[in-house]
Amino acid sequence: MNKEEIKKLAIESGFDYAEDLNTQTLTPNQGIMDTCATDKCHAFGKNWGCPPHGSLEENEAKLKGFKNGILVQIVGRANDEMDFEYYSRAGAEFRKCINILYAKLKPEIPGCMALGAGGCMVCEKCAKPEPCRLPDKRVEALEGYGIFITQLCKDNNIKYYYGEGTIAYTGAILW
Ligand code: SF4
Repeated sequence: MNKEEIKKLAIESGFDYAEDLNTQTLTPNQGIMDTCATDKCHAFGKNWGCPPHGSLEENEAKLKGFKNGILVQIVGRANDEMDFEYYSRAGAEFRKCINILYAKLKPEIPGCMALGAGGCMVCEKCAKPEPCRLPDKRVEALEGYGIFITQLCKDNNIKYYYGEGTIAYTGAILW
C-alpha cells in the first residue's frame, strides 16, 4: 500500500483531510512534555497511550525512526453560536475515524503506529498499570510525545485553524 492509497483510505474512513507528513518534522518539545507531566487531564501515567514514554531524545528517535507518515484531521464546526457541543462531537468523530483507519491499516502494515488527540480510549477504562489489552489497537497521543501540533501542521503545510466556531483535531499514522 503506498502513501496515496493510505491517504485515500483515511478519507474513506471519515477524515476531512489526509496530507503528507515529513516524519523529520516530528520534533518533541520539552515544554509540551513538561505540561503533560503536570497531569491536568489526569491521564499522565494512567493510560498506555499517554506519557511518560521516554526522554526528549528517546521520543525524537522513536518518531523520526519512521520513514513515512500522513497527518489526518477532523474539523468540527458549530451549528450556531449556541452550539457548545461541537468540540466533543468532533473529538468523538476523530476517535471513531482513527480507530477505523488503524484497524484497516494494521493488517497491511504491521509496524505502523497511530497517533491521536488525547489518550487511548479504545477500552472503556485503560488497563494501566496492567498490560495493554489491545496493543494492536492502541492509539497514542501525538502531543504526549511532546509534539506542538500547531507547529507540526505549519511545517507540513496543513491548516490548523479553520476560523471562528471551528475546532481541528489532528493525528498521524507513521510507518
Ligand atoms: S487498548 Fe485499552 S488497555 Fe490498551 S492503551 Fe488503549 S485503552 Fe489502554
